[in-house]
This record gives sequence, structure tokens and C-alpha cells, in this order.
Amino acid sequence: MKVALDIDDTLFKNTVLRDTLNEHNFTGTYSWDLHEIPDHVLSIVRSRFADPDYMCSITPFEGNPEVIKDMQSKGFELYAVTSRLESVHNQTRQMVKDHFPEIKDVYFGNETKRDILINEHFDMLIDDSPKYIQEVMDTDIQKILISNSHTPYNFDLREHSQGKILAFSSIVKFWDYYSCIL
Ligand SMILES: [Mg+2]
Repeated sequence: MKVALDIDDTLFKNTVLRDTLNEHNFTGTYSWDLHEIPDHVLSIVRSRFADPDYMCSITPFEGNPEVIKDMQSKGFELYAVTSRLESVHNQTRQMVKDHFPEIKDVYFGNETKRDILINEHFDMLIDDSPKYIQEVMDTDIQKILISNSHTPYNFDLREHSQGKILAFSSIVKFWDYYSCIL
């Protein structure tokens, strides 16, 4: 089973967006495409997304290193698949290697993951982004949507069946129910 794992707010707790919003007293809700956020704040967010000093000093969600070790021991082939910007690619590879040595490699998409997932024959996608889950809805790739306190943009999707095992975050929803991953 070849598994694609998202990095930001799935494997790692990304505090860059939230910290920036707090600094600018933005307390509203926001969608995955961030269109509710004022332009002057959004431009700061975007510049930080491109800066390895911000993006590559984050840490995994508690429990994730153990989950990843367990998955590897059960025979899952683990890869990270992310749309992170090119300016942070090298340091992102290193960050993943440092925290998750079981992950074999990192694939970088350009605002899409579909081609990578299909062309590289992935069997499963684990991601907090409704967009990337939707992109492969017409395929037989297993889809697991991660929903946690960092992902207000997918709270509306939480009515779907709840998984029971993964610890990628405090709350996990399975898009396609997959009861025996661990
Ligand atoms: Mg993500």
C-alpha cells in the first residue's frame, strides 16, 4: 500500500498562518483558499509560506512519529506529497527526514496533487485539504480527510463517518472509511 501524506496540518502542525493572523488581529473564519483574509495580511502570509525560516521550523503533531513508525512496520510505503513553494523544497525535504525518517521521499505538486498520485500509482491520500481530496474523487485512491483545530476550512465536512485509529491530529475523519489502517 503506497501512501501519500500531506505535510502541513496533517503530519506537521503549521503555525505560520495562525500566528500571522493573530499578529494582525484577524479573528474571523477562513476557507482553504484564504479569500476572507485582507490583502495586506495575505501578502505577509504568502511571503512567510515562501520562507524556509518559517516553514521548516515547525514540529509534528503529537503522536505522529509513533503512528508513522507503526505504519511502516505494518508494511505501508510512506511518501510525503505537498504543494509547498519551490523556495522551501530543500529545507522541507530535510525537515521531513529529521522528524520522519520512515518517509521515503517528498513529492512536490504545483497547486495540484492529482498527476503525482495517479502517475506514481499511489493507493491512498491522507490530507487536510478538501481540494486535494476532491481532485481524486473520481479515482479508486483511498481518501482520508484529516480535520483538526488547524483546519476550520473542512469543519463542514465532519458529518462523514469518523475513523477510529489515526493520530495525525486530535480529530480525524475518514472520507472513505478504512477501519484497519493500523
Ligand atoms: Mg495540508
